[in-house]
Amino acid sequence: MQNKLHTNIEYLKGVGPKRAEILQAELNIFTWGDLLHHFPFRYVDKSKFYTIEEIDENTQFIQIKGRLSALRLVGAARKMRLQGRFEDSTGSIDLVWFAKTDWIQKSLKVGADYIIYGKPNKFGRSYSITHPEIKTIGELKQSDHSLEPVYSTTEKLKKFNLDSKGLSKLMYNALELLGPIDLNEVLPLEVLDAYKLLSRNKAYHQVHFPTDGPSLEKAIFRIKFEELLLIQLRLLRVKINRNIQNQGFLLEKVDHKFKDFYENHLPFALTEAQKRVLKEIRKDTLSGKQMNRLLQGDVGSGKTIVSLLTMLMAIDNGFQACIMAPTEILAQQHMEGISELIQKTGITCALLTGSVKGTSRKQLLLALSLGEIDILIGTHALIEDPVVFKNLGMVVVDEQHRFGVAQRAKLWKKNTKPPHNLVMTATPIPRTLAMTLYGDLDVSIIDELPPGRKPIKTIHRRENSRLEVFGFIAKELEKGRQAYLVYPLIEESETLDFNHLMDGYESVKRFFPQYSISMVHGKMKPADKEFEMQRFVKGKTQIMVATTVIEVGVNVPNASIMVIESAERFGLSQLHQLRGRVGRGADQSYCILMTGLKLSTESKQRMAIMVETNDGFRIAEEDLKLRGPGDIEGTQQSGVADLKLASLVKDSKILALVRQVAIHILQEDPFLDKHENKYLKEYLIEQQSKKAWGKIA
Ligand code: ADP
Ligand code: MG
Repeated sequence: MQNKLHTNIEYLKGVGPKRAEILQAELNIFTWGDLLHHFPFRYVDKSKFYTIEEIDENTQFIQIKGRLSALRLVGAARKMRLQGRFEDSTGSIDLVWFAKTDWIQKSLKVGADYIIYGKPNKFGRSYSITHPEIKTIGELKQSDHSLEPVYSTTEKLKKFNLDSKGLSKLMYNALELLGPIDLNEVLPLEVLDAYKLLSRNKAYHQVHFPTDGPSLEKAIFRIKFEELLLIQLRLLRVKINRNIQNQGFLLEKVDHKFKDFYENHLPFALTEAQKRVLKEIRKDTLSGKQMNRLLQGDVGSGKTIVSLLTMLMAIDNGFQACIMAPTEILAQQHMEGISELIQKTGITCALLTGSVKGTSRKQLLLALSLGEIDILIGTHALIEDPVVFKNLGMVVVDEQHRFGVAQRAKLWKKNTKPPHNLVMTATPIPRTLAMTLYGDLDVSIIDELPPGRKPIKTIHRRENSRLEVFGFIAKELEKGRQAYLVYPLIEESETLDFNHLMDGYESVKRFFPQYSISMVHGKMKPADKEFEMQRFVKGKTQIMVATTVIEVGVNVPNASIMVIESAERFGLSQLHQLRGRVGRGADQSYCILMTGLKLSTESKQRMAIMVETNDGFRIAEEDLKLRGPGDIEGTQQSGVADLKLASLVKDSKILALVRQVAIHILQEDPFLDKHENKYLKEYLIEQQSKKAWGKIA
């Protein structure tokens, strides 16, 4: 028998073809099951009554018992409204109707007792409620539920009487026809018992028609638990399958190059966080499985040295290693940094980018295939087919978000077994999200900066302080420092943004005639961009006027000022990334956030967070709270965006719990073949195929 949850919404009592079409278009509701997953976004407690004197400016929707003491039509013919006076023993309030006035006037009796419900608005000295819900005392006694669900709906749906009440009626019709078989339990009994979860059937009834507060809470907990568990199971299964399939190189020894470097050439003591991460990597490379590790560490936290030591583990075991960066400049900077670190060790490294051509390219590729190069550093030029290693064992990818999974996978094919992978990113992702997004990657975190760093001072200034800000920049430039001025990316309002950048460039030129200025933006040819960047990196120019193209990784220790123009137009993570371009040298660095005079509350919050903290993880958490997970890179594929009730921000405790449950289930039964997991497996597969289908549709 087919599960009724899959029945087309059209065939539910009270829907029909026209409403079905609108439910599909407006709310993505195609089936009865989709309808049941349109959860209330809040509940109104109708067991509670207010008195009129309790109303103040913060009062939300409330319910009052009282008497209708007057009712009359007022205003001119076409703008007629119905106005009523409603009293209880503590005061009085106005009721107002603009529509259906005739009908309402006829159905109400002056002098009778009613229950009204609505949101009071202040009007002069007194309060009024527009279009209140109104019931007789008798009607109240009939309705047995005191917690009333409120569903999100749209203007279009409302026109077809599918307001919150209308949707609730549909829920009722659906639940009446769905039996316990349709809402069959999918969680294993053991889990239900251990966490005292409501059954699925009960939970769906409760969440749409709650009987009381505590039962509703249990229902919500049960549904969130299930949502998060499914995502975790899906991701963890991918990881387990990969671990079973992908045998990796065993890196047994670290006795030679690694040890020599660690003992004789390390230019500083590692931080505790760096040591911890290296231990995690060491464990992976000794496991016989392919390592797939994401290394998160704020800008300047010292990921490079960790990646070098990781590459040495491979080299000690007769393998080659490579490190791939998203731009030519970054690759070059890695080349400079790494060749300096290894110059006295006998380890060889080489740089391969698009600009290595002709004979030198041929020679390099030959040396690589003969195993004469230990570490190859480069851009995505590394992926190309003619690049053949003798024995590639370790792949490091820097600034992960610029490369797709497919590109990374191409590098895996450059040896008989897939090499180990270390993916590094400076875009911190909140832990809750990392758990969900990268369920299939292991995550390491460097959460500590090397000692002795001077924290960047961040200042928020508005347009009217521009002269003061420019004066400040002038002083820093006089000391021999360099400065960045960053403008929003040229996009939606292209010409406007371009003018903004050009105006900026002109005024900087006027204000600082004695200095050389570089300019970089996304509309320039890559080679020109590169040229301008290089001039700034080498100190030939003192000021860099740019759009966010400079965001990733560039290291100019002498630059100590970052001015972000129209800072209110940037997201928190992006502001933090940009700020990370300074604070890399010994001098005190500054980040100045320039904004317009008037700011929205949210923009003010963002500026305040930036001024308050330099901690990338804190900022990522705040960003998640302000924006929600939908906008964060990678969330679309992960299933996070499909969450209906659970929230990654608010339900991090349930998420952590559920992750343990998922790990436990899969440890006992990796392929979910045991009888007690039968329904869970079926449900997972069903969800997955629905998702795949959704993408095609
Ligand atoms: P990122 O994580 O942004 O890639 P880098 O690896 O470029 O950071 O490191 C930033 C700077 O910090 C470099 O100049 C590096 O030499 C230095 N550094 C890294 N680790 C330490 C440490 N443990 N002690 C002191 N300086 C360190
Ligand atoms: Mg780096």
